[in-house]
Amino acid sequence: MDVRAGQSADGTGDGPAPQSWLGTAPVAGEGRVAEALPSIPLWQHLPGVFTGTAQALLNWARSNSIWYMTFGIACCAIEMMATGGPKYDFDRFGMIPRGSPRQSDLMIVAGTVTEKMAPRIRQLYEQMAEPRWVLALGGCASNGGPYHQGYNVVDGVDKVVPVDIYVPGCPPRPEALLHGIVLLQDKIRRLEFARSGPSDQAGAGA
Ligand code: SF4
Repeated sequence: MDVRAGQSADGTGDGPAPQSWLGTAPVAGEGRVAEALPSIPLWQHLPGVFTGTAQALLNWARSNSIWYMTFGIACCAIEMMATGGPKYDFDRFGMIPRGSPRQSDLMIVAGTVTEKMAPRIRQLYEQMAEPRWVLALGGCASNGGPYHQGYNVVDGVDKVVPVDIYVPGCPPRPEALLHGIVLLQDKIRRLEFARSGPSDQAGAGA
């Protein structure tokens, strides 16, 4: 039924006219009651509404849903696994382990990077979709650690892929990794659309 202003729902004209939630006169539509657009600012109707940029919303969503690759190459990986366990509960940061680089936002390089492993790490990094981030976990991944200048050890994974966050220690405790993730979240929240991640030049870490 076509219901118009000043007319009741049963079409008799007796009864109050339908009112919009704004309290203004309703506008008749085809078979339904349409509401006039508010003529005063939205914030006066909905106090507490805040505004922001699409960039801030995107960054907020990304920073709270970092999916990390299930990828460990030495003893630091045990600390990474412990961080994912129930005591430290990585999941509360939106950190979800993924079994594929194509579904991962973050590579946590957890362990010693040998000359033999370096090309595989680069390949996994290139299979990740942008924006992507790298966290060097522990002394070995940061600069070779106890194997610094070893004949078969790369002195830092930044020689292979660009690193965003370094977490020192041998091994770093789960709390240190969590701190590194908080720093990474802060970095992601400051991203701009024009920038999809760190420079693809290895060695451009933050
Ligand atoms: S930093 Fe220490 S704990 Fe971590 S991979 Fe190297 S030797 Fe192992």
